[in-house]
Amino acid sequence: MNSYRYNLRVFKSPLLILSLSVVVALGLMSNPAIANTKDSHCRFNGEFKGKEGQLSACIWSDVGKGKWIKFTKRNYASLSTYEKTKFLAYQEIQKLYKSGPLSSISHTYFISKNLPAEFKSRYVNQTERASRYYDQLFPKLVKVNAYYQTEKDEQYIKSHPVLKFDFEMFSSWFKDWNSGKNLDHNIGLAAWYREVEGVTQGHTGVVLGSKSQLKNIRLYSEQVVAHEYFHVVQDYYKFERDRKGYDGEDDFATYYPPIFREGSANTISFGVSMQSFEDYLLLYQVFLAENIGKYQPKIFNSLTNKSKVVSTLNLIEKRSNDPEAHWASYSLGALTFEWFIAKHGIEAFKRLVFNQKLGKTFEENIKISADITLDELYDGAAEHVFLGFNAAKTAKSFS
Ligand SMILES: [Zn+2]
Repeated sequence: MNSYRYNLRVFKSPLLILSLSVVVALGLMSNPAIANTKDSHCRFNGEFKGKEGQLSACIWSDVGKGKWIKFTKRNYASLSTYEKTKFLAYQEIQKLYKSGPLSSISHTYFISKNLPAEFKSRYVNQTERASRYYDQLFPKLVKVNAYYQTEKDEQYIKSHPVLKFDFEMFSSWFKDWNSGKNLDHNIGLAAWYREVEGVTQGHTGVVLGSKSQLKNIRLYSEQVVAHEYFHVVQDYYKFERDRKGYDGEDDFATYYPPIFREGSANTISFGVSMQSFEDYLLLYQVFLAENIGKYQPKIFNSLTNKSKVVSTLNLIEKRSNDPEAHWASYSLGALTFEWFIAKHGIEAFKRLVFNQKLGKTFEENIKISADITLDELYDGAAEHVFLGFNAAKTAKSFS
């Protein structure tokens, strides 16, 4: 979910829909680290099956063929350089998990009667799981409202004091879902900690087509609940700065650049929502594969070596630099902060989130929180980003 609606001075962007919608992409793969499951053909990129912790997913090629892939358990020594970084990041993210009773979060659910039954408990479970990771990130009790709605709840959303903020970005999705299209996606509905009608609380949630079925949902959709919810954590620490407002999106981005806002929300939500390291590798592979191949946004064409990745990271700092900059920040940022967490640890990432409260620019914040410059972040993460796209490209090449 995007997040520019913090102040009247901040304008709305039609790119919001693009940022959440995504390329319904197509790819395929072969990778020596991956075992194929040959039982049946898959139908679309990101289709998944199996038990959490041991999932298989579909990689779909540009030539209209797909196959099931899964990652098998391997010891650390046999992981690639790219996977070793991922392993360290995944381990660090798991340190946020709290098994006992929550001390900082209380939930209120608003679940539509139109939400397909198989998703009701699923979304509640995903919310409760995310809370186990986010609880220690709040210093005091925070009330979080969680909304799970469908296109049939259009009127409810439109007239809701909180949900109405982003109402227009859902209209094309509602139209699609009404006509039975794009039912493999869910979309962020709320992702804020903000004051509404004098009450300051967290708001999170997603919308899903009322005709969606779990067997037709993409693996990426499994992390959207945790992604939107993580924005509540981020917002908690920028609440005071938000009240002052921003001079448009580029000003907002100097404080919370898209790779931090959206990319790191993905880094965390991928680690939170995937219940084994193997599933985590799988989710990244299918997600990155969507950005590769015939339908890839052209901004990804340039990721051919480390220095070009650095240039692209510089380019996407501001949405005004490139119409695809915002969308690119989800994947490039996810990998950038995965590298950051592997290298500097989850405690440094927590400082980065907490120090938003200082009201300083992101460049100043990362210096204070991790003692590195923005250039050092880009330079350090570039190889990992490059390897990630390369792995997905290899995976997608049909033999
Ligand atoms: Zn988001």
